[in-house]
Amino acid sequence: MTNEHPMKGVVPISFYEPQRLPHYPTDVPAHDSFGRRIDYLRVSLTDRCNMRCVYCMPAMGMRFQPRPELLTNDELLLVVRAAAAAGFRKLRLTGGEPTLRQDLVELIRAMKAIPGIEQIALTTNALRLRRLAAPLKAAGLDRVNISIDSLDPVKFRQMTRGGNLDEVWAGIRAADEAGLHPIKLNAVVVRGMNDDEVVQLAALTTQHPWEFRFIEVMPLTGVAGLAEEGVVSTAELIARIEAHFGPLIPYGQDPADPARRYRIQGAPGKLGFISAVTDPFCATCNRMRLTADGRLHLCLLRDDEVDLRAAIRAGATQAEVEQLIRHAVQLKPWGHGLPEGVLPTLRGMSELGG
Ligand code: SAM
Ligand code: SF4
Repeated sequence: MTNEHPMKGVVPISFYEPQRLPHYPTDVPAHDSFGRRIDYLRVSLTDRCNMRCVYCMPAMGMRFQPRPELLTNDELLLVVRAAAAAGFRKLRLTGGEPTLRQDLVELIRAMKAIPGIEQIALTTNALRLRRLAAPLKAAGLDRVNISIDSLDPVKFRQMTRGGNLDEVWAGIRAADEAGLHPIKLNAVVVRGMNDDEVVQLAALTTQHPWEFRFIEVMPLTGVAGLAEEGVVSTAELIARIEAHFGPLIPYGQDPADPARRYRIQGAPGKLGFISAVTDPFCATCNRMRLTADGRLHLCLLRDDEVDLRAAIRAGATQAEVEQLIRHAVQLKPWGHGLPEGVLPTLRGMSELGG
């Protein structure tokens, strides 16, 4: 169950005593205390979803944030303006399912107009993309990542607890036609569920210029048990794919991208492997997350947060929110504690957006 201890893990900064915060210079982009440039904000627009994927939400006991707890559009835009002033350049809108957010098109248009924001991406289950892809592109959305865990409609329905695979394909086609390129597809690989499909999923890149990304299950609240038994390591996935297609060819690595990228010989598309558990990428981490209820979540797999919503609702100016964001960047931990057995306890993936 999520949301049981809403204050647990919140970094105890009192905005009512802003003089206790150091003042950060505003003429340089935010770097954390380890020298990493943090310029990528993943924004969860809602914790709600129209699917219930087995690795993301528990089957029972989900409780969702009441609407007044969520940042309004004006509050969100204030945070994004302050983040852009602190040097953030890239946004990813996620959830829950971000396409459930009302006024998504208008929100993207307003975000794209903020000076400093260079790129906006969306991570979606694509159930609502058939109709939304074109207006989202027109509003300024640059590209999409779409989750598709199985090519078998029955298994897809089981893994997502109700998802309709035909709608997802319609969404992928609409994204393609709208020019939301490059299209990236994501599959969380769960042993005993879809690990027998990795070759077919990888084969999509031999027909399309898409990047197909295989993601290891991470032990977030509500599904940690699944992660214990369900993780299929990247090494094992690569071995299975290479047994079918021959040696994979390493493809230019982007240091800010957690995916290790390869290509099947002769394929127009690429493969990506995201292995937070068996091969962490903390050294090149460039990101922070904003929860739908207005907390900066400093590391996906830790509980530490800084509460922006309290500051905003107490009347903070954009400059003050920028200082709080710069402070949060300073507090960002080096990396997750999974090797030492430290698990996140506060929030599920559906609140953090991946
Ligand atoms: N609803 C959208 C979707 O599914 O694409 C966006 C939100 S979802 C939480 C973002 C990403 O997190 C998806 O690619 C999803 O597969 C991934 N994800 C969810 N739970 C996960 C887990 N326990 N481990 C690894 N990835 C997970
Ligand atoms: Fe919903 Fe995305 Fe989580 Fe699946 S992974 S339940 S689509 S938020």
